[in-house]
Amino acid sequence: MNLILFGPPGAGKGTQAKHLVKKLNGFQVSTGEMLRQEIQKDTEIGKKIINDMNDGKFVNDEIVNQLIENIIFDNQKKSNLIFDGYPRSLSQAKNLDIILNKSNQKIDYIFFLNVNKETIIKRIEKRKVLEKRLDDDSVTILKRYDKYMDTTQPLLNFYSKNSNFYEIDGTLKIDEITAKIDAFLKV
Ligand code: ADP
Repeated sequence: MNLILFGPPGAGKGTQAKHLVKKLNGFQVSTGEMLRQEIQKDTEIGKKIINDMNDGKFVNDEIVNQLIENIIFDNQKKSNLIFDGYPRSLSQAKNLDIILNKSNQKIDYIFFLNVNKETIIKRIEKRKVLEKRLDDDSVTILKRYDKYMDTTQPLLNFYSKNSNFYEIDGTLKIDEITAKIDAFLKV
């Protein structure tokens, strides 16, 4: 089973992904985390992406799609993939369909955590103190939110007509969101 957690920055995708990893014995596919690790390890990829990432811009598709492909075609065959932060654009969504198809897999659930701008800004300001992410400063948050509205949110047209698409109020408490996800999952 594979699923996508969809929503704006600060929607709580990472938090719910961690719950799902435990529940499903799954594997969290967070492109943001993977990219931050590249920067931390100062790899060639890390050097290429550091400026864009800290500035709240998207990392280019070639790099991100390759990370995703490596996981899907990993010979240790990870299953129960929980996508968090990918896909973020129509081209990434189409790419995901193609690579899942090639490996005889599909997306079983899409959970959209819907959160308004004010809540996101408050949450990310809190997170900034805890995690000290360079892209969590107040100017960059707004850039990331605008980028989400322009490029990622339109993907809802692509996904919301599917019968496996579920919208959840992402302003609820963490446990309440978890309970809703669990109720939708037919496992
Ligand atoms: P958030 O969703 O809170 O913004 P993420 O950890 O998902 O945090 O992403 C942080 C940053 O990593 C993004 O602003 C972007 O620069 C980069 N990134 C993550 N996923 C992608 C992606 N699928 N495509 C392009 N860039 C990405």
